[in-house]
Amino acid sequence: MKHILLIAAVLASVCLLACAPGRAEDGEGEEKKKQTEVEKETKLRADMEEIIGADAEFKRTGPFLVAGHLGTAEMERCVGTVERSRKALHKQFFDKEPDVLYAVYLLPDHDKYDAFCMKFLGEHPSSKYGFYLPSRKSLVMNIGTGSGTLVHEMTHALMEADFPKVPTWFNEGLASLFEQCTTEDGKIIGLVNWRLPILQSALKDGSVIEWKKLVEFTGASFYGDGSGLRYAEARYLCLWLQEKGKLETYYEKIRDGVEKDPKGLEALSAVLDGKMEEAEKEWREWAKGLKRD
Ligand SMILES: [Zn+2]
Repeated sequence: MKHILLIAAVLASVCLLACAPGRAEDGEGEEKKKQTEVEKETKLRADMEEIIGADAEFKRTGPFLVAGHLGTAEMERCVGTVERSRKALHKQFFDKEPDVLYAVYLLPDHDKYDAFCMKFLGEHPSSKYGFYLPSRKSLVMNIGTGSGTLVHEMTHALMEADFPKVPTWFNEGLASLFEQCTTEDGKIIGLVNWRLPILQSALKDGSVIEWKKLVEFTGASFYGDGSGLRYAEARYLCLWLQEKGKLETYYEKIRDGVEKDPKGLEALSAVLDGKMEEAEKEWREWAKGLKRD
């Protein structure tokens, strides 16, 4: 026993010696990290300039390098939106910061957005508002339609780093929630928006999808025909959880339990104290009574 303890003590001290970096090394590590950061941004900026033009205005906020020809005031407004939303999303939901940089292209109107997409994608955009292209870590926005889509898409980008296995319904539900939002005391709060009538008409004609079926729609099946209702339901389920003060707890539970509960249904049941049926009824009544401002 003594012998084992002695070996353990020797191993521990060797490990301490081997693992504890000296002050100089610490400094060097930091310096190298900063240098890599600068190199990453310089490289991304050069790539972005090629597509949007070197005369575009550039601003960096967190992992987002934002570029546009919007005029200084509008650019500052958009960057402010990204900054506030990003900080709030991290405070409330996301623990892990992305280790990549994202290109954010802001186009002032439909024509410039369309022309940009032809150059960037070789085709017209499928959304008139904007999109996130994970394969190129790029967010492209027609900012002339407002900044709602910008917050929607940046929620996807940030969530990708923190919760890579997020089920489609919740990925779209949370991102859609913040396409109409406000920030108060550093917190992001989703508000009622244009998706409400889609849900309310489904509640009226009985075509509303049960929660346990909604969570089954993943990938292409979520985005296919009739996706408008699935987006609306997922969004207003998230809004309802937010109103009950349970959205942040739900996010943590669904993310941390995703291996065993990939659709997040057990996590939902857990935050609703196991009373799913009652809760779903309550949610339907609540949604029927919601009003757009
Ligand atoms: Zn989305």
